[in-house]
Amino acid sequence: MRIYDIIVKKRSGLALSREEIRFAVEGFVSGDIPDYQMSALLMAIYFRHMDAKETAALTHYMAASGDMVDLSPIPGIKVDKHSTGGVGDKTSLIALPIVAACGAPVAKMSGRGLGHTGGTIDKLESIPGFKTDIPKSRFFDIVNSVGLAIIGQTGNIAPADKKLYALRDVTATVDNMSLIASSIMSKKIAAGADAILLDVKTGSGAFMKTVDDSIALACAMISIGEHVGRKTVALVTDMDLPLGNAIGNSLEVIEAVQTLKNRGASDLTALCLDIAGNMLHLATGESMDVCMEKANDALSSGRAYEKFKEMVSAQGGDTCVLEDTDLFKSASITHPVTADTSGFIHHMDTESCGIASVVLGAGHLKKEDSIDYSAGIRLLKKTGDSVKKGDVIAQLLTCKEESVEEAEGIFRGAVTIKETAPQPKPLVLARVSAEGVIRK
Ligand code: URA
Repeated sequence: MRIYDIIVKKRSGLALSREEIRFAVEGFVSGDIPDYQMSALLMAIYFRHMDAKETAALTHYMAASGDMVDLSPIPGIKVDKHSTGGVGDKTSLIALPIVAACGAPVAKMSGRGLGHTGGTIDKLESIPGFKTDIPKSRFFDIVNSVGLAIIGQTGNIAPADKKLYALRDVTATVDNMSLIASSIMSKKIAAGADAILLDVKTGSGAFMKTVDDSIALACAMISIGEHVGRKTVALVTDMDLPLGNAIGNSLEVIEAVQTLKNRGASDLTALCLDIAGNMLHLATGESMDVCMEKANDALSSGRAYEKFKEMVSAQGGDTCVLEDTDLFKSASITHPVTADTSGFIHHMDTESCGIASVVLGAGHLKKEDSIDYSAGIRLLKKTGDSVKKGDVIAQLLTCKEESVEEAEGIFRGAVTIKETAPQPKPLVLARVSAEGVIRK
């Protein structure tokens, strides 16, 4: 078998066999297939797509490319959570402590930023001392004692995804349904949880731009999950505006801490409670009403914040920065962006907001770039807000002076101001499970 022939076959729009998919995945992981040939195959998949059988085979071989974690040393039903990637999406940092504070164990492996979207691991690593690469035995110990641990996807969890993820990030092959579904589900299956809650983002800041495509992605992932015996539920949530008011790693941790202290933005708080309520429902089988009440109580009582602090401390992080968030290292430049006209913010192209934050240093432009944890965007106005000409609508934060002009241009281009206010939209647009789709 030759990878060249597999590329030609996919480029011609034909379905690949299980054996061909196994050959490509295993060859890429072993190094026999170089980046340039895998990039060509990814681009062919991007344009020609994969059917459900090919996607299932790709997921299987990606999951089987490394360790399959056995979470049985942790008693109870373990529910995992995954977001398909958004801008300003710090929900894991808030929803998971809520779930753990309600007594359901959370053993979470998270990823890094991809394209214009941020990653939980990069955010947590902005907390001084916080370790995300701890050994499995210590990870289990922390989950058993604290109830919550969040670590990076180790080299051995779906290494095929790790390599492919990095390549897709720099070859414009991220936003393909099969590649996203197999990437997410291979990690979730290998990470060993009993049930999975997916947050499928939709809109201008998401990889899937329409609600219908997002529901289709949710259905693809639910079918993969149920096929391997993992109960899977998805919320399709709006990413047509950034979530909360902060974009960038330490800025988002600060916002998560404020939310855990009951001082968060209402959109972010509501979504985190919904995610936590659904995770508790999967973990306990109790009704959604009961689970939502428990989630609300864990947040408003401060128990969720205490749980987050316990986890940070157990993973070596400095909890002083949580108590006083001014102690986070701050960017050397704060550049205000003002409204050039009066009216209402009608739309924010959220992907462009994410790209502007990457340009400021919050993410990777190239595979080898390092991240500036303090860089990002503080949003002072968002979609629906009224603005007057000259009002500061956002602050750009960076240590790279040369990035400001480009980032400001991108950010300005992302914001549309009109005379009339836009129609408000719900944040959760649909709930998808094996039982069907409920549109909100
Ligand atoms: N998140 C993932 O884990 N993989 C993708 O491909 C996209 C988002």
